[in-house]
Amino acid sequence: IVQVNDLCKDYVTRGFTNGASSVFHAVKNVSFELYPRQTYALVGESGSGKSTTGRMVCALERPTSGSASFEGRAYTDDSPALLRKGIRSKIQMVFQDPFSALNPRKTIGNALVEAMEIQRIGSSRADRRDRAVAMLERVGLSSAHMDRFPHQFSGGQLQRVTIARALAVEPRVLILDESVSALDVSVQAQVLNLLQDLKDDLGLSYLFITHDLSVVRFIADRVGVLRHGELVEEDDVASIFRNPRTDYTRRLLDSIP
Ligand code: ATP
Ligand code: MG
Repeated sequence: IVQVNDLCKDYVTRGFTNGASSVFHAVKNVSFELYPRQTYALVGESGSGKSTTGRMVCALERPTSGSASFEGRAYTDDSPALLRKGIRSKIQMVFQDPFSALNPRKTIGNALVEAMEIQRIGSSRADRRDRAVAMLERVGLSSAHMDRFPHQFSGGQLQRVTIARALAVEPRVLILDESVSALDVSVQAQVLNLLQDLKDDLGLSYLFITHDLSVVRFIADRVGVLRHGELVEEDDVASIFRNPRTDYTRRLLDSIP
């Protein structure tokens, strides 16, 4: 459903002492395919380029070179206006920290309704509110939460809210960037189970970004391993765990508690 072709991202950095600029290659020629109804886990140590890759696939950031396409159509060079009409409703991103992803002065109901308005989902405000309630119920919350503000939720509940908001615009693909990493273990398991159910019920595909290999075993179909911006290994989840081909992947697996 999403093809990633030779994505590269360079950042120009300026030296702290002498002010000379140099080019840092954060992502180097990364290619992979996300298949319909599958979960592709992108793993690697901190700084390996996982989030940068995710942001490019979500069209939040433009690649230096290479492209990503959705159902055969490249979108990474589209204008902001075209992105709004196209890929923004098809591919949604969920981040690690739901508090910083939501406006603290906006009720949850309004946040969901506005997300739908932007993507022209629903026929009227009343219809969008009904859809928002249905979506909250779908993630284990209720209409009682519509008029609450972000600070009135726990971290796990609020991550459910951002998942509901992402799903409210009827995407086909979710990019989850460390979306369960900040939650404590029992809440993490609940949200993972929820994500698994949503994926099956709604026919979604996930790009699941994490540094936590123990979570990968539970949720992923395929795994790509990033190291210093390069995809050094890719296989189905069972093979990665049974037979890692690089020392780097073996070390990542050894770090599982
Ligand atoms: P983590 O597990 O810590 O989230 P990551 O794998 O998601 O790490 P990225 O956030 O993609 O890593 O960063 C990859 C590299 O690119 C890092 O060295 C980072 O410092 C650098 N980088 C990311 N964004 C920028 C930016 N806007 N400007 C300059 N350098 C950046
Ligand atoms: Mg990251």
